[in-house]
Amino acid sequence: MLEFKDVCFNYGNGVPVLEHINIRIGPGEFIGLGGRNGCGKTTVTRLLMGLEKPVSGEILHDGKVINDDDASARSHYIGYVFQRPERQMFRSTVEDEVAYGPQQLGMSRDETAAAVAEALAMTGLSHLAKAYPPNLNRGEKQRVAIASAIAMHTSCIILDEPTSGQDSADKKMLMELLTDLNKKGMTILIISHDMDIFAQYCQRVIVIGNHTKAFDGTPQELFTQREDLYDLGLSRPESVALSMAVPGMKYCRSMKEFTEEMLRR
Ligand code: ADP
Repeated sequence: MLEFKDVCFNYGNGVPVLEHINIRIGPGEFIGLGGRNGCGKTTVTRLLMGLEKPVSGEILHDGKVINDDDASARSHYIGYVFQRPERQMFRSTVEDEVAYGPQQLGMSRDETAAAVAEALAMTGLSHLAKAYPPNLNRGEKQRVAIASAIAMHTSCIILDEPTSGQDSADKKMLMELLTDLNKKGMTILIISHDMDIFAQYCQRVIVIGNHTKAFDGTPQELFTQREDLYDLGLSRPESVALSMAVPGMKYCRSMKEFTEEMLRR
């Protein structure tokens, strides 16, 4: 369980970024984090990661205050996939890259090898074990970053805009991998501007607006009940808009679901 208690933050220039934020992230949740550009989404995740410290308030992990724990202490339970995953890679092969975390944790050679093999298999990267990370495409690099978190047995992965600029096949592959990890108990927090991802994959969405938490609830509540979606920097996904336009139609999380529902009628 990760928790923000009354967290306030600015970058030291007096301009408030986050004010009195309260968030609880339970084990095994799949959460989307949304809001306008510059509203503070990345800042929330940097605070969770230990890359920034709150000006006031507390960040807790399993009930223990972790404000003073740095990013390396938190890497035991939080993995991070940057917008540009190549920035977090510095070893010459994929398997060495994924082995780095387990080695830092002090795992034995055999334990490390087993953790790396398992993580590469889970992320579909076994055939790229000897590849040079900079030569991979973005989707593969993201999966290396996810494999690194899996190999460290982290319980939570945070991803910053992982699907921006990706084609729909890569996007689907990534989201299916995350869904699979989530089913195995991994907590997922995903920053996105893609409303389809919120609707289709997230159990809960948190929206930051006006320096504070502007919404925290299910995607269905967000997309069907909030009148101020546009002001929050969001929009209604096509599947939801269409299902709301057809009388008697149930809420549809995806176009596939909408089409199937229409064919059933
Ligand atoms: P988002 O991820 O929602 O686009 P960010 O968390 O990146 O938003 O930024 C929130 C606010 O903090 C923005 O106004 C941004 O300009 C400001 N900001 C981000 N990083 C820094 C920094 N290193 N120094 C000063 N201001 C920053």
